Amino acid sequence: MTTVVDGKEVAASVIGVVKTTTMALEKDTGVKPGLAVIIVGDDPASHTYVSSKSRMAKECGFTSIQHTLPAETTQGDLAALVETLNRDKTVHGILVQLPLPRPLESDPIIQSILPEKDVDGLHVVNAGKVATGDLDGGLVSCTPAGAMVFVRRTHGEDLSGLSAVVIGRSNLFGKPMAALLLAANATVTTAHSRTKDLAGVCRNADILVAAVGRPEMVKGDWVKPGATIIDVGINRVPAPEKGEGKSRLVGDVAFEECAEVASIITPVPGGVGPMTIAMLMANTVIAAYRKLGRTPPKF
Ligand code: NAP
Repeated sequence: MTTVVDGKEVAASVIGVVKTTTMALEKDTGVKPGLAVIIVGDDPASHTYVSSKSRMAKECGFTSIQHTLPAETTQGDLAALVETLNRDKTVHGILVQLPLPRPLESDPIIQSILPEKDVDGLHVVNAGKVATGDLDGGLVSCTPAGAMVFVRRTHGEDLSGLSAVVIGRSNLFGKPMAALLLAANATVTTAHSRTKDLAGVCRNADILVAAVGRPEMVKGDWVKPGATIIDVGINRVPAPEKGEGKSRLVGDVAFEECAEVASIITPVPGGVGPMTIAMLMANTVIAAYRKLGRTPPKF
């Protein structure tokens, strides 16, 4: 019997821990975690993401600050705002919504955020800590951190003896995901567009993680019987059955056929997606605990 993971339910349990640890911190120290979110320009999808992040931050009991800047904002103005937030003691987490509108360059901005406030986990210091297995010192990028919550809840903390395949080697997801699986003692293969016999590589995986951006690429006969499948892909495809011009979201995994072979599978939508925002909240409370010299909660 295949279990379809309810990402919303797991995300809600993470948010539950964020809320209780936020209350405990405020009770003990009088300090609320503070999350500052910066959005530049008027891309509607980015505004939707930022609104839900700000709303969730308030729901968690954080001080939530949103900076909405016009598309004409200069690199210097944006850098100056990050600098101000770096110095602001009430701000424990800074998130710059990506992508930035042209010609702004995101990398210098991300690298200018203090690593201990980089709740998106994209600063090279945080990426380096994940790569070297220092998971208690840095902040882990939110989507791989969320995917690891599913892995831990299924297989426990120690993945000794299990083989894991991550399809995709992006800095945002594939590389940190592979490093987290390795740190948990899995035997890890990172596959990508140059991998030979991808189907054969995937068939070895006890834990198969797909983060490619190609709709339903992973087929049922690529899956080892009983495997855990984590589908990170978000792809919008036409859905004429819903009406003219309509679309729907699918993952990188052909859900129906893979669900017949796997023992655990995450759906799209409603799997990894809801975890990303939950882990952003988790990172903010972790950053606040550390700033106050306290042992942060584990997620
Ligand atoms: P990305 O930077 O475009 O990386 C895609 C990776 O897939 C690359 O490493 C690429 O290999 C590999 N790839 C492409 N075609 C392939 C093929 N035919 N066979 C094997 N590997 C192939 O994407 P990303 O940022 O990691 O995101 C991947 C997916 O996850 C996207 O659908 C994205 O929307 C989704 N995502 C979701 C969340 C969320 O749920 N919150 C967060 C992040 C990403 P090369 O390196 O060789 O080119």
